[in-house]
Amino acid sequence: MTEARRIVIAPQTGQSISVERGDIIRIIDPQGQQVADLWAFVTDNRSALDWLSTSQTRDINERLFPRVGEHFYSTRGVPLLTLVEDASPGPHDMLFPACNRWLYERAGLPDHPSCQDNLVRAFEAVGIVLPAVPDPVDFFQNSLPSPDGRLDVIASINPPGGSVALRAERDLLLVVTACSVDFHPTNGDRCTEIVVEVTKGD
Ligand SMILES: [Zn+2]
Repeated sequence: MTEARRIVIAPQTGQSISVERGDIIRIIDPQGQQVADLWAFVTDNRSALDWLSTSQTRDINERLFPRVGEHFYSTRGVPLLTLVEDASPGPHDMLFPACNRWLYERAGLPDHPSCQDNLVRAFEAVGIVLPAVPDPVDFFQNSLPSPDGRLDVIASINPPGGSVALRAERDLLLVVTACSVDFHPTNGDRCTEIVVEVTKGD
């Protein structure tokens, strides 16, 4: 069996991770209640910039979030990732944007780390300047819509060690962040690390 690549994403930071078609990516929340944001960009077709689209994924699956066995799709409707296991109680989110510096400024917290800045930095570290910031997949985020349409983010209920596993359907550059929100119960009132394990597929 091939050894897994193990990437530790420190609290309130993010990292880019290259994966190949067939790789299994497990996103683990070791301490519990920590939201992990995920982006995916296609790297096996440089002539066509394409990335994971949360709105296309909702549309094609006709659901707020894929079930196990369903895909996350690109802006062109191409399957990029398959959710192969959900070893968490959920819920997960695909409605919210990444936390960003303006959100923290509105909360009276200038110069605060954010998932959006961490995404941009993770790309700059590999020489890519993003023209725009797509919306992320927010694993373990507890923000299901209320029946009246209200959207509240409440504390994640993910237990320590809760995880999800994805299979790459294309060669991708992923970015995973350990969400920076610490002024709101999103991450259980404390920001902790996220671990990503990548194993080669068959
Ligand atoms: Zn965040």
